[in-house]
Amino acid sequence: MGIFEKIESTEHEQIVYCNNKDVGLKAIIAIHNTTLGPALGGLRMWPYATEQEALDDVLRLSRGMTYKAAVSGLNLGGGKAVIIGDPRTDKSEALFRALGRFIDSLHGRYISAEDVGIDVNDMEFMFQETNNVVGVHQVHGGSGDPSPYTAFGTLQGIKAALQWKFGDQDVGKYSFAVQGAGHVGIHLIRLLREAGAKVFVTDFNEEAVAAAVALGAEAVGLEDIYDVDADVFSPCALGAIVNEDTIPRFKFKVVAGAANNQLANNEAGDELRARDILYAPDYAVNAGGLMNVSIEFEGWNKERALRMSRTIYYNLIKIFTIAERDDIPSYKAADRMAEERIEIIGKLKLPHMGKPHRFPGRERNSGN
Ligand code: NAD
Repeated sequence: MGIFEKIESTEHEQIVYCNNKDVGLKAIIAIHNTTLGPALGGLRMWPYATEQEALDDVLRLSRGMTYKAAVSGLNLGGGKAVIIGDPRTDKSEALFRALGRFIDSLHGRYISAEDVGIDVNDMEFMFQETNNVVGVHQVHGGSGDPSPYTAFGTLQGIKAALQWKFGDQDVGKYSFAVQGAGHVGIHLIRLLREAGAKVFVTDFNEEAVAAAVALGAEAVGLEDIYDVDADVFSPCALGAIVNEDTIPRFKFKVVAGAANNQLANNEAGDELRARDILYAPDYAVNAGGLMNVSIEFEGWNKERALRMSRTIYYNLIKIFTIAERDDIPSYKAADRMAEERIEIIGKLKLPHMGKPHRFPGRERNSGN
């Protein structure tokens, strides 16, 4: 498939290939949709085996950002960037400054942030060349580590799901199986425990498990997490864990967590619905991190970040309402909600609302 054919099928606006031989930069910026605002999305550095793999990844991820921003009520479009390279060996100041210059040439159509393989120091290099980055260090007025806000937002999503499913959002009354006690997971476990909830946890990393146990969680094996008799499954590690092998083992009533791409495929979402397990769509639940960086445009502060993250509760209720209204699974309802917002807000911009025109060389005598 040719590139134009490909991006027509994914409905992308613009793909930018960035090359700088001197610094070894090979990067792709994908701008999916800017109807709602500038395309914001993280930069990923990964040793992609082929250019096609890098292109596929950036197209998929940037499209996902359009939906995440739209469903979250943000005035942002969807974009993403990838650098083809090994983050352990191929990083340099010049590499990131070179990419920063390319990002700057887009005049704010794309705004970058951290993603896999990128840290705040890399962002600092890009920030030397362009203002169009967020997630810069707090000494520059940046928002810093997004994970506490992602966890707080995830809790709001969980509350909405509990309210919808059981008519009672008192977190302390329920039990949770949390997969992954990393940056987001450990904050979420702390919030759940503070509310008095029973929490089961699993993680590859023994230190992460120990930290969760210190908060009062009960450790279970990596595979056993799918069999835990808990009300809520909260994936906070990796994607595709809700699939044809795991779903038959679920005793959970709700799936709500921070991990991206939790459903292995659409069939997994259909199957959850068939089994009457309420799925809180991941990209709506984990938008706290995106909300947190988006505040940097107007000046970040903690209160605003928390206030915005609370809206995740209402976003989820809207998604569940659309699912009921249209008799569709919640993962489809989230997409529909995003698409409806893009369409209607896009239309608002269509009539010309008038603005002062400049007519250089023309004069009007006001005296007579
Ligand atoms: P992280 O790497 O800090 O934590 C992930 C944890 O999961 C690690 O402790 C890891 O050991 C564990 N893990 C990995 N595979 C596992 C497995 N098979 N079983 C059990 N544990 C496993 O990452 P994070 O920043 O906490 O992000 C977690 C998830 O949330 C990811 O899917 C990420 O894309 C998503 N997310 C994160 C943010 C954020 O603000 N950090 C925002 C939006 C979405």
